[in-house]
Amino acid sequence: MRRIGAEPLVIATQNAGKLREIQALLDPYAVKCISAGSLGLPEPVETGTTFVANALLKARAAAEAAQLPALADDSGLCVTALGGRPGVYTADWAERQPFEGSPGRDWYMAMGKVEGMLCELGPGTPRDAWFACVLALAWPDGEQVVYEGRVDGALTWPPRGTLGFGYDPVFVPAGGSATFAELDPEEKHRISHRADAFAKLVAEQFG
Ligand code: IMP
Repeated sequence: MRRIGAEPLVIATQNAGKLREIQALLDPYAVKCISAGSLGLPEPVETGTTFVANALLKARAAAEAAQLPALADDSGLCVTALGGRPGVYTADWAERQPFEGSPGRDWYMAMGKVEGMLCELGPGTPRDAWFACVLALAWPDGEQVVYEGRVDGALTWPPRGTLGFGYDPVFVPAGGSATFAELDPEEKHRISHRADAFAKLVAEQFG
């Protein structure tokens, strides 16, 4: 199995929150990271219908454009009562429509959309959810590998906390009472879906 070597690793995400978390997770392994944004790499359209397909698509595009190994993440929130939605469409659900104001992502609106759908299903609807994360490593010569992680929990309403990003204020990891947005970032990094996928990557790449 191919390993991350001395070459710089392109972190193929334009999401500042994810970039911060990935760099923090890679810090102990002295990997030189470069962000796709700083190289001016275009963001490919995520046409995949699974986290694996989208993570590979982003890692492959960056590895080929930069001619360097690249690491991409695809992640999202899956709600059991909604059949796993929003899933790979998690970010899309935050996209404002023209009648909803200026373009861009509105996470409060997205969290409200999920909550509205759960309310429509009636009282007693299970609120279980999980965050899924797939990390894909790709090399310019075509070699690639994926690592899958998840964290289980439940959705709460109203949103609580100011830390983290995306849907963090409504997600309470199993066994706790604080939302991801109330937890110390170090604690979130220890238990998150990204940490789970990372633990698998680290075991194979740096073990
Ligand atoms: P994508 O992987 O860039 O397609 O985006 C997935 C979306 O899932 C992100 O933009 C976030 O809104 C959401 N998401 C992924 N990981 C987390 C997390 O750790 N906390 C909160 N939201 C997350």
